[in-house]
Amino acid sequence: MAEVVQLRPKRPCPICGKASTQKFHPFCSSRCAQVDLHRWLGGAYAIPVAETEDEDGGTPEET
Ligand SMILES: [Zn+2]
Repeated sequence: MAEVVQLRPKRPCPICGKASTQKFHPFCSSRCAQVDLHRWLGGAYAIPVAETEDEDGGTPEET
């Protein structure tokens, strides 16, 4: 409720840490958005996507 909104630079993609894009905000690409979606789904569909591919030099998430 009482959050203080600060002017910040673009938040990095929560998946790979790259700069996010408006199109896929807050992610950098549709792939990262899908990765996050799968997380929300609780991994019901264990599709090995993006995690092992580093076409954009992403780093594996730790959290
Ligand atoms: Zn990303």
